Amino acid sequence: MTAPRWVPAWTAEEGTARALAAFAARFGTDGAAPSVWSAPGRVNLIGEHTDYNGGLCLPIALPHRTYVALRPAPAGSDVVRLASAQEPGAGLIELHLADVGPGTVDGWTAYVLGVAWALGQPGALRGGADAPTIGGCDAVVDSCVPYGAGLSSSAALEASVAVALDATFGLGLAGTAEQPDDAGRAVLAAACVRAENEIAGAPTGGMDQSASLRAQAGHALLLDCLDGSVRQVPFDLAAHGLALLVIDTRAEHALVDGQYAARRTTCEAAATRLGLGTLREIHGTGGLAAAFASLASAGGADSDVAVRRVRHVVTEIARVEDFVALLDAGRVREVGPLLDASHASLRDDYEVSCRELDLAVATARAAGALGARMTGGGFGGSAIALVEADAVEAVAAAIAAAFESAELTAPAFLLSPPSAPAA
Ligand code: ADP
Ligand code: MG
Repeated sequence: MTAPRWVPAWTAEEGTARALAAFAARFGTDGAAPSVWSAPGRVNLIGEHTDYNGGLCLPIALPHRTYVALRPAPAGSDVVRLASAQEPGAGLIELHLADVGPGTVDGWTAYVLGVAWALGQPGALRGGADAPTIGGCDAVVDSCVPYGAGLSSSAALEASVAVALDATFGLGLAGTAEQPDDAGRAVLAAACVRAENEIAGAPTGGMDQSASLRAQAGHALLLDCLDGSVRQVPFDLAAHGLALLVIDTRAEHALVDGQYAARRTTCEAAATRLGLGTLREIHGTGGLAAAFASLASAGGADSDVAVRRVRHVVTEIARVEDFVALLDAGRVREVGPLLDASHASLRDDYEVSCRELDLAVATARAAGALGARMTGGGFGGSAIALVEADAVEAVAAAIAAAFESAELTAPAFLLSPPSAPAA
């Protein structure tokens, strides 16, 4: 049997050195030296497909981060020159910021240029203020966040650029690493969401960007997607002798984007039919029963699908509340059944799981995990398992063996203590 493959997180020194070396390789060592910023990927503990329904979610920041070395262009220039160690084939991309807008850029640079574009839009800053001119820059990216693994490498890239531009162009939003400015970071997160939605063209909700910019080390971020408010919930796994094992299944399934958009459309249509702004407004079993009756009265297969999608969203939001109540009470060891129930709901009612995710979750539980579930949008990507700290290797080995027996691509494994936000 092949041993499990681990994806270690770079230390800050390692990531910074790599970004600086990649910058020097690209631009030489003449001219102004760049500075380095970084931002984490995220993993969501619970509250999946709730963000675009005005619901609750509970992500943590990964120790795995995206680093950007950046220096401003000469005053008055809006030329952006960009490269990424993860996109060597793309070479150095050069363009004018004035040419960036919806539909004008594609590929990986949309995530970077989109942030600069969004921060430059009228009223994009705190209190609806306009940004001072965001000029051009030279930037090189390097990252240890796995790509397309449901761990939000896209938000890590956006958030690293957001804090870099904030510092470089004096936007005054991020605060310091020691004293982060959460309200300012919410403004940066909103710009990152616009970048992803309007420039990169991915209809994601706001969880990823908030996690990367607003999570705190040692805490889970309770994010209320209705009003964007957050609460830091202590989540000290090590003190409880536990670890969070992240399993990147390496599974890629076609139609992912279309499926995500379809789920979102079904939820929005259901809310409209129920006369609600979002599904968040359905409360308790009574509210759910009334919603089911109303949706079912439309008849047909679509109404059955809508009932199941709504049931996932409403019960998932309740599971977030129950999970947080357990964390608040110091009962971390008791959250396992909520993880399991979340997975069942995503698999059966929301229908976004897949064979690889189901296998990872079932094998983790059989190998002793306290609970496990898929995380992120689904159809591939990653699963999480809450495990005894001393059982991490054994659980990972069991999952690797199960994938090998099933003749699936070997998964990759990450450990994720709740880590620090973009800085
Ligand atoms: P996820 O966010 O789950 O990793 P996405 O499909 O949302 O998956 O985002 C992945 C995309 O983000 C990549 O295909 C690429 O375009 C961009 N991206 C993320 N990280 C980097 C990076 N380090 N360098 C260049 N592009 C990146
Ligand atoms: Mg993403």
